[in-house]
Amino acid sequence: MNECIFCKIVAGEIPSNKVYEDDEVVAFMDINPANPGHTLVVPKKHFRNLLDIDEGTAAKVMEAAVKVAKAIKKALNPDGLNLFHASEKAAFQTVFHFHIHVIPRWEGDDLVEPWKPKKGDPERIAETAAKIREAMG
Ligand code: AMP
Ligand code: ZN
Repeated sequence: MNECIFCKIVAGEIPSNKVYEDDEVVAFMDINPANPGHTLVVPKKHFRNLLDIDEGTAAKVMEAAVKVAKAIKKALNPDGLNLFHASEKAAFQTVFHFHIHVIPRWEGDDLVEPWKPKKGDPERIAETAAKIREAMG
């Protein structure tokens, strides 16, 4: 039996505030909003995260995220928006069904930057790039 909470939301088995739905994607309000309008965009099919989802479905989710972002701008007129995604616990994933957070932002709201930029070692950056290029195949 599927215990995934987002699969249950997709199936309408538990309540949610849906704002968008098409053949492959659903968007609904986060129950613990970082800011008013915080919306989650999910594929209807279950994928664990970015390391599991296929590129075609991910593209559909992203298309819906753009639509949601524009609707949030129209409805709530935020000063900006963030997209956020977590893959695995180390990256703060808590619900293991792929989702993108669309978070409206207002100047002076109480959200904080996830990292402070600090100068990288150019040699190390280049070495890391080479490893990733190699892995791209
Ligand atoms: P993450 O930590 O990136 O995996 O995000 C999971 C998000 O799902 C959190 O922001 C939760 O507030 C949200 N969430 C968990 N359960 C529900 C639910 N039943 N309805 C709406 N959002 C939920
Ligand atoms: Zn699921």
